[in-house]
Amino acid sequence: MPEMPEVEHIKQMINREVKNREVEGIEVLYAGVIKRPTDPNQFIHSLVGQTLHHVDRRGKYLLFHFEESVLVSHLRMTGSYYVHQSTDSLANYAAVIFQFSNDRQLRYHDLRKLGTMEIYGKNEPIVPIERLGIEPLSEGFTVALLEELGMKSNRSIKSFLLDQRKVAGIGNIYADEICYKARINPGRKTLDITEIEWEHLYTTIMLVLKDAIAFGGGYTFFEKHGHYPFSLYQRAGSLCEQCGTEIERVVVTMRGTYYCPTCQK
Ligand SMILES: [Zn+2]
Repeated sequence: MPEMPEVEHIKQMINREVKNREVEGIEVLYAGVIKRPTDPNQFIHSLVGQTLHHVDRRGKYLLFHFEESVLVSHLRMTGSYYVHQSTDSLANYAAVIFQFSNDRQLRYHDLRKLGTMEIYGKNEPIVPIERLGIEPLSEGFTVALLEELGMKSNRSIKSFLLDQRKVAGIGNIYADEICYKARINPGRKTLDITEIEWEHLYTTIMLVLKDAIAFGGGYTFFEKHGHYPFSLYQRAGSLCEQCGTEIERVVVTMRGTYYCPTCQK
């Protein structure tokens, strides 16, 4: 599932390729991703002819800012965007195609078809975004705030990191990576985390996310994207880079979780 670094990478790519270009046409091949308005024809009609000013990211959401409206796109499990020439052959799981005025096609692909697209008016409140917590790479994100948010409830540190209403953008894979690099057991309760561990967690969150963004993300699923060297992802049964102990898989807050039982206390 694409998380903040992957979504950031996709945002940068879209801005590079089709920013300030006009949408000349849209083809909806799989209407299931279109959630607002639900009628695909209405969806097409409301964007065609508009210029894309720029794309922003908030948490794991992409925000396409057009003249009159904002397209809010969530990639869920397997969604991604690719830029093509209109003559390029179509992938099996292409779901929506945006034809831009510079002869570029922005193609939304989604193997499992769980992604969503919603259009909001320029001055309309964007409901899914309003619920999101702080951006971990924004100025307001401090160790004091992280600790304050964490101490509000007593639950596993993994569950806290995954809560988009607290800190936005971290998903299952980066949460494991962050806990590993911060040497904290993902099942530890937030109220048991010491001050020094909160500090360590804070610097690790920023380090991991910045590094992953610099790599262009890290999922092999997205061939054209980056290859951030994960310590845990897809390394089940392999040995910990730090101590040689076998990486274990456990379930924390109903999510498959990888960790090193020796390094992470
Ligand atoms: Zn270890």
